[in-house]
Amino acid sequence: MTSHMPSPAKPPAEGFGPPALGEPRLLTPGPLTTAACVKRAMLRDWGSWDDDFRAMTARMRARLLAIAGDSQGDYDCVPMQGSGTFAVEAMLGSFLPRDCRALVLVNGAYGQRIVETLRYLGRAHAVIDKGDYLPPRGPEVAAALDADPAVSHVVVVHCETSSGILNPIDEIAAVVAAKGRRLLIDSMSAFGALPLEVGTIACEALVSSANKCIEGVPGFGFVIARRDALAAAAGNSHSLSLDVHAQWAYMNRTGQWRYTPPTHVVAAFLEALRLHEAEGGVAGRGTRYAGNRDVLVAGMRQLGFETLLSDRWLSPVIVTFFSPAHPAFRFERFYDLMKARGFIIYPGKLTVVDSFRIGCIGRLDAAVMAEVVAAARASLAEMGVDSAAPPAAALAERAKLAA
Ligand SMILES: *Cc1c(COP(=O)(O)O)cnc(C)c1O
Repeated sequence: MTSHMPSPAKPPAEGFGPPALGEPRLLTPGPLTTAACVKRAMLRDWGSWDDDFRAMTARMRARLLAIAGDSQGDYDCVPMQGSGTFAVEAMLGSFLPRDCRALVLVNGAYGQRIVETLRYLGRAHAVIDKGDYLPPRGPEVAAALDADPAVSHVVVVHCETSSGILNPIDEIAAVVAAKGRRLLIDSMSAFGALPLEVGTIACEALVSSANKCIEGVPGFGFVIARRDALAAAAGNSHSLSLDVHAQWAYMNRTGQWRYTPPTHVVAAFLEALRLHEAEGGVAGRGTRYAGNRDVLVAGMRQLGFETLLSDRWLSPVIVTFFSPAHPAFRFERFYDLMKARGFIIYPGKLTVVDSFRIGCIGRLDAAVMAEVVAAARASLAEMGVDSAAPPAAALAERAKLAA
């Protein structure tokens, strides 16, 4: 009898072709370009109390723990409504006791945001600030911890999205563990594409969000934390809605989020997780992004562009290029010309020299990145810029990284 039933419609294969609605591709680190099936998953409504949605939340949490490599069941996953910053603030407020002292490793805007958050929360903290993009290294963290025995927690950004640098997270985690301190990681723009196995990288908690390397749409973040730390976090938080312990305890008791969940975003995220798994998980996703970066960087260097970072520190997430020295180059015009060709790029965040950024994450492959390079070439030609070489000051700045 079943043979007479129509076979269920197979979802169309999800390629990397032009977006169905003709919108530009986002070469930005979230929101980013999502697959058509991820967008389609938002076309139905879900009741937040209903069993179906509770099952979706449970499935999502389990899958995220698997991605984090929690083979021992020592960790749990707590989604939090809001953008990534809300989840970072929730992690800091919930896992840092009110009388603790933290050490924040800063090398860009997201590290600075963590410091600013601790100021709002009134948590005592020391800072190692490496400037715009130099990586914090193990020995200096060890020295700072030796010199400041009151520090109980270290906070670090995994991939500093403001420059695109991939910080040496394993080196830092090893030092923090060796010194008997606890580590909190903002892995917002790395989780899902760069290895971060909790069995290897000793951390108390890490945080990421729906709209970065898992390629969902914006609307929530998630904290992955040790269960013993979650249990011990009761009463730490300054905030009702950002209390990770309370969200965790309620969710484990009821299967529900404490307050209205972004239901459509969760549905889209499950579809994004399905694509992530089909692509080979973290390894597959990381390989595609690295290929995107390699095509982008090689092509842009051929046009004369230079990257801020040497290859050793280039993440496969986002790349910072110096603005060309040529007098006819204007970033705003370059942006508009790239947009007219279907690509949204990203302004730079360096304080010292002019730069811009191009993201490698999202539903994009190497063929798309070759189109990005071709669009850059055509945009430069239209501006009358015959060389994209950076000013000498930019190269002098970069030489600091090698020193
Ligand atoms: C994206 C990002 C965040 C969160 O930013 P939101 O705009 O709040 O989503 C935090 N840290 C890093 C490193 C990021 O890349």
